[in-house]
Amino acid sequence: MTGVDMRKIYKFYPIEPAPSPDDLPTGGDIYYECKDCGQIVLSVPRIKSACECGNLAGQGGKLTVKDPVKVTVVRGKLK
Ligand SMILES: [Zn+2]
Repeated sequence: MTGVDMRKIYKFYPIEPAPSPDDLPTGGDIYYECKDCGQIVLSVPRIKSACECGNLAGQGGKLTVKDPVKVTVVRGKLK
């Protein structure tokens, strides 16, 4: 858990058209919003990151997505 509300720091824009759950993009400005718990996690987390319900979890640049269908891919921009 990051303990930080990413929405206070970044503005998030859904990527259109929505990427296929089978082939989610990754990148330094690509974030995944969990549709179950609503939390946002960076697609390439350097530090240990996870959403509240555990659908998204990772560290060291790799994120494991348990159920990609429950993910909204968004691009984050610093406010
Ligand atoms: Zn979640």
